[in-house]
Amino acid sequence: MTGVSGEESVSLDLLRQKMRDFAKERGWEPYHTPRNLLLALVGEMGELSEIFQWKGEVERGLPNWKEEEKVHLGEELSDVLLYLIQLSDSCNIDLGQVALRKLQLNAVKYPVSK
Ligand SMILES: [Mg+2]
Repeated sequence: MTGVSGEESVSLDLLRQKMRDFAKERGWEPYHTPRNLLLALVGEMGELSEIFQWKGEVERGLPNWKEEEKVHLGEELSDVLLYLIQLSDSCNIDLGQVALRKLQLNAVKYPVSK
């Protein structure tokens, strides 16, 4: 499957494995407890929020943003995603599977006809 950039799409499993390898190579696993990872995730959410702070409402697609701002945004979105994957992994939760299940639950809760 290919993504918007035309490159091969990236799976949550691939990212999870890469984050496991990254932490293991550096001996960081003992620090990657659920609580620590949650706090790191919240910190990254703050960094992501700072990008939008004081900008007012922002148009979809970010037509008026500089390239460097979009690069920075991509980096902070990635930090959030990677910590979320690590947090899920540290809790033995398969994020992809539970997200699919949640989508199904949401579809039942919010039927198209409503
Ligand atoms: Mg960051």
